[in-house]
Amino acid sequence: MIDSDSWSPELRLRGLDQDKRAVSLSVLADSSQEEDLSEPANCSGLGRIRHFTHTTANGWPDNPLPWLPARRHLGAGAVPSAGCKAQVFQNSVCNWRCWYCYVPFSLLRGDPAKSRFVTADDMVDMYLGLDDRPVVLDLSGGQPDLVPEWVVWTMEALRERHAQDRVFLWSDDNLSNDYLFRYLTEDQLEVLSSYQGYGRVGCFKGFDDTSFAFNTGALPELFDRQFTLFERLLTIRPDTYAYVTFTAPAIPPTGAISAMRRFADRLQALDDTLLARTTPLRIDVFTPVAPRMRSAHQTALTVQEAMVDAWNTVLAERGVVPLFDQPMAELTTAGHRV
Ligand code: SF4
Repeated sequence: MIDSDSWSPELRLRGLDQDKRAVSLSVLADSSQEEDLSEPANCSGLGRIRHFTHTTANGWPDNPLPWLPARRHLGAGAVPSAGCKAQVFQNSVCNWRCWYCYVPFSLLRGDPAKSRFVTADDMVDMYLGLDDRPVVLDLSGGQPDLVPEWVVWTMEALRERHAQDRVFLWSDDNLSNDYLFRYLTEDQLEVLSSYQGYGRVGCFKGFDDTSFAFNTGALPELFDRQFTLFERLLTIRPDTYAYVTFTAPAIPPTGAISAMRRFADRLQALDDTLLARTTPLRIDVFTPVAPRMRSAHQTALTVQEAMVDAWNTVLAERGVVPLFDQPMAELTTAGHRV
């Protein structure tokens, strides 16, 4: 098991240069992750293009992220179809080791040989200078919230370049720590809260503590913390979205439906509209994942299919209308602190 709380301060040190307002970004060029990219790494090897598509596998709900919130901000002219391209940068530290992570673990420990410190200003300049620039800028990881200043500095850089209205900023968070609240100033929290054209997604790494620990290598009790952190995030951005992964070593003894009802109860207890904003992610085996696979992981790929069936059943029981089917005007509007 990983002792995330002991490890995270060191990772933050490796991942952040506060004085220079710089963050350690993974060098993707020539990494094993690059083999899975549809286009070569860009921005001096630090960035990549990701094609988000809304359709997934049979039986899996459509994925509206980040396409739908980007379209709401930028308009149908800028984001015309149900899918979008994004420019992705990955910070180089993460405090979990999910067996299904498509990032090589060597790019998650802040290794200076595999990463480079870059200021948000320089990163945004590289992005804005791209030919055929994607309208979505995705700050991914790693765990971006080990260095929550990154998102705020990027917002400030986009504002200074008057790019706020032509870029949709997206970031993800593994819901492992409270650094956003611990290290950002009140002014920075205000920027995060009030910035239009930003979407944030928190990733639930399982549907119960057993699946969570199996997936992340972290202590099972940290599953509960994911909900506590998500609740706090809603005070900053009430429109925060969620992902969930359903891989587990086995179907729970109480049955898939029963386990999924409990998980759905917990999401709804945070926010009655959160079920509609939650997207299950199907785990596939990318190049860095294959060497990590053991028989339990093969089983988990099968379990996720049963669990998504249970998810679909529970959403139908509760009359949840997927985001795709909701009128744009009825979607939760962008965040204000509550
Ligand atoms: S939290 Fe994300 S970046 Fe970290 S190991 Fe898990 S999947 Fe990879």
